[in-house]
Amino acid sequence: MKKLFGLAAGVLMVLSLAACAKEQKELVMATNAEFPPYEFHSETQEIVGIDVEICQAIADELGRKLVIEDMAFDSVITSVYTGKADIGAAGLTITEDRLKNINFSTPYTTAAQVIIVQEGSDIASPDDLTGKTIGVQLGTTGDIYAEDIEGATLERYNKGFEAVQALLQGKIDAVIIDNEPANVFVSQNEGLVIVDEAFTYEEYAIAIAKDNEQLLNEVNAAIAKLKESGKLDEIINKYISADN
Ligand code: GLN
Repeated sequence: MKKLFGLAAGVLMVLSLAACAKEQKELVMATNAEFPPYEFHSETQEIVGIDVEICQAIADELGRKLVIEDMAFDSVITSVYTGKADIGAAGLTITEDRLKNINFSTPYTTAAQVIIVQEGSDIASPDDLTGKTIGVQLGTTGDIYAEDIEGATLERYNKGFEAVQALLQGKIDAVIIDNEPANVFVSQNEGLVIVDEAFTYEEYAIAIAKDNEQLLNEVNAAIAKLKESGKLDEIINKYISADN
């Protein structure tokens, strides 16, 4: 009898858990999983990284189920704008222009656009980029800000790594890209270095539709909590070692 009760209770628990999971509202995250260590495919082809874990922690705070939608980088903000996704998290830099179309949460980290060159390159600072052929990822801040470099030719790629490959093949003189992906790409490929002086300094935040003020407040509250508890640092430190 006792056993039966135990079994029945067990079954009930499983059923109610399932019901709970079903009722949990989704939190759809738009991203571009080509941006290590923020979002990338693990060896088992899962989408992992800092942004994924931060958004998972936010979803947990909100009692919602995180659903990841992987897409081209320049679709991330559009999908938030059109309401296809609830949040955009893709190492997104806060810019005045983007703020015209969407809201940004409070920043969760700082970053920089850096310059990758071949070892022995004559490019030693941002000033040396004048007149050069520069690879960027389409629609990124690297792309936008590089447009102002005098006489430079921009080669736009869909993935940051494609720009790095073009640099390795000597097709372009430099790549402008975010610092942490730059560290990852340089560590994975011989013969590349990062120029000491950064090109720009930026802040990353989560994109949310302008008409979704409630979600913005909820996400900001969750980020504040993650900062206070040390969980945010913990996630970042898991992917970025202090010495790079
Ligand atoms: N931080 C850059 C931007 O917001 C690049 C982001 C990315 O390539 N995922 O444009």
